[in-house]
Amino acid sequence: MKTINEAANNGDSIGPKHEVEVVCGSCGYDLDEAELTADTCADCGETLNLRQNTKIYATTIPAAGGSTLT
Ligand SMILES: [Zn+2]
Repeated sequence: MKTINEAANNGDSIGPKHEVEVVCGSCGYDLDEAELTADTCADCGETLNLRQNTKIYATTIPAAGGSTLT
């Protein structure tokens, strides 16, 4: 299952847009939301160990305030 998190501005820090993919730690099967709560992997049958892959999107975030020209 992939969850896309939009870029967030948390005051001092800016969180980039990123994607979190939750897969089976044993076989890498892409679990869907209903399968996350299962005891075993729906694909390989192993005890479910979740693994998260985070992918950061390389996007440019416009500087606050825009142009510095006056
Ligand atoms: Zn698996």
